[in-house]
Order: sequence, then structure tokens, then C-alpha cells
Amino acid sequence: MSIEGLVRDNVKKLAPYSSARDEFWGMDYVLLDANENPYDSDINRYPDPYQRELKAQVSEIRNIEAERIFVGNGSDEIIDLLFRCFCEPNQDTCLALSPSYGMYKVSAGINAVDIHYVSLNKDFSLDSKALIDEISDTDKLLFLCSPNNPTGNTFSHDHIQEICRQFHGIVVVDEAYIDFADQDSMIQSLDQFENLVVLQTMSKAWGAAGLRLGLGFMSREIVHYLNKIKPPYNVNVLSQNRALDLLSQSADYEKKVNEIISERSELEAGLKDCQAVIKVHPSEANYILVQFQQPKEMYKKLKSEGMIVRDRTATPLCQGCLRLTVGKPSENRKMLEVIKAFEK
Ligand SMILES: *Cc1c(COP(=O)(O)O)cnc(C)c1O
Repeated sequence: MSIEGLVRDNVKKLAPYSSARDEFWGMDYVLLDANENPYDSDINRYPDPYQRELKAQVSEIRNIEAERIFVGNGSDEIIDLLFRCFCEPNQDTCLALSPSYGMYKVSAGINAVDIHYVSLNKDFSLDSKALIDEISDTDKLLFLCSPNNPTGNTFSHDHIQEICRQFHGIVVVDEAYIDFADQDSMIQSLDQFENLVVLQTMSKAWGAAGLRLGLGFMSREIVHYLNKIKPPYNVNVLSQNRALDLLSQSADYEKKVNEIISERSELEAGLKDCQAVIKVHPSEANYILVQFQQPKEMYKKLKSEGMIVRDRTATPLCQGCLRLTVGKPSENRKMLEVIKAFEK
């Protein structure tokens, strides 16, 4: 399979915007090329369009070459760029699992690409044979979210690798919650599959949803094409700098992730003791999907106590379910008290 054969013709032919900082980044020149304001501050210059410092640091932390990293304005931007790169509007299609993250559908819709779904099994496991059977010739992208949002479970590497082998388009594995999981990242499989794209983000485990910083790991060739079509300065200076700070504080990151994981166990155990709860779905993420006897009433009760959770009752296979994000210990305790005290 060739990546080039999958890329849209207009993208192949495109001469990308050549930005002022493409060549002379980080060198000691007098910069009079970009109509910037000369008076120094931390933001008077355009950002590095290729986020070189940031990629160097991510490269060490995730143990992958910097040339195989793409940084986006949130992973949502990378999802959108993948559509623009590979899917011809009103012609190509994509495939996703149901239930899963809602942004794949929105992004497909924006790009005039039809999305079709394969249902997970009732226990949220993946029927990889059904998925492979559902693949059609016009599918260019296939989305797998692991740990899956909103169900919280992961899919096995064996299944994902089999899908990479069988699908002749791009397999996008969204690992927004991988830091909370027992399972390893698929990054180590990138060498084997040139059609694999792994997405991570600084929005969850790194505690930086406000930065808008998504990380994509992929073949050099896919990085090349995404670079052609991305907005030249897609990641701003403040976000790049703050991300560098955060990535250098790995002890703090680990402490918070471990705290959230241990709080998740406490919350799971507490919820299982509640009368109002029918089922606590096991989670490898920083949220728990919980089936309640009276989900709508529970949602209202929590809201009246000042707590907002996510109503997933209308989501396929999630009847009666609310998705509860693991908060701080005091927040989780308060939520549990309300749920425990709930009477029909
Ligand atoms: C939260 C989340 C993201 C993060 O998106 P950003 O744009 O990086 O904030 C990506 N994928 C899934 C499944 C998510 O739940």
C-alpha cells in the first residue's frame, strides 16, 4: 500500500504556504522578513511553524523520532487535517465504532464525508471481524478510540494490528486517555504499519485542555502531507512554551495521573455499593460509565447539588448511563454522597 496513493490529488499538487520562519528558525539574524513588530516581548514573533523544540522533547518522552511527530491545535485539529488530506468530499467515506468519540462524525460532516459505523459488542469489546467485513472501497479513514470514550475500555493490540493489516486506508488510533490505561500505547507498532496514525493530547493526563495541544505520531510521509495543508502557525507561542514547561515536569504529571487512577478505583468501589446503580463499567480512562436505575433523575439531582456529569442515555449501548469524570478526592466524595443518598 502506498500513502501517496491515498492522498487527495489537490493535496499532492498543492504548493504550501511558505512561511517566513520555515528556514531561519532559531538563528541569530535581524528579522525583517515577516512584518512583525520589532519591540521584544514573549510574543512579538511568529511561532516556529514546525514546533521543533517541542517535538524534540516529545520525541524523548515518547521514544519516537521527532520527524514522525505532528503537533496540532488540539487533536481535534489533527482529525480535521486527516480528513482534508485523505478524503475527497462527497466521494470518500470513513468508518468508526459505535459508541465512540463524537468528534469523528462532526469532523466528517464538516468535510462532506459520510461516516458509517460498526457497533461494539454489548460488553463494549471490539468485533474486529465485523469491522473488517464492513470496510468498503471508498473508506479512507478508520477511527479506533482506545481507551474508548465514553465506554472506558481498551482494544487489544492484536485486534488493532489485524485491522491495520486488513484496511487499505489510514487507521487512526485515538489514545487521548492512554496515560490512565494499563495497556501500552500503539506508538511502538508504527514501524510495522505505515498506515497507522496514533493520536494523543495534552488535554487530559497532562492537565492542559486549555492549551489546545494535540500530538500525532505517524510515518514521515504522512507528516509531510499534513505539514503541507496545516495552517502555517497552527500552534501559538504561548502554548508551545507552556507545553515545554509541562513536559519537563514529569514527576508532577506522574503524581497527578497516579492520583486520578487511584481515585478512579475508590469511586468504582463506592459506586458499586450504591442502590441507585445498576452497573459500573470498568474503566482504563479518567471517567467511569455508570448505569443507573433512574439516570435522568440522578442527573437532575447531581445538578441541583451543583455537579455536572455527562448524560449518555441516548448513546447506543449506553441506556441508562451517565459518564462521570474522576475529579479531585473531595469532589468525588461529594458526588458519591449524593448518589448514595439518592432515593427514587
Ligand atoms: C478529549 C478527547 C480528545 C482531545 O481532544 P483535544 O482536541 O486534544 O482537546 C481527543 N479524543 C478523544 C476521544 C477525547 O475524548
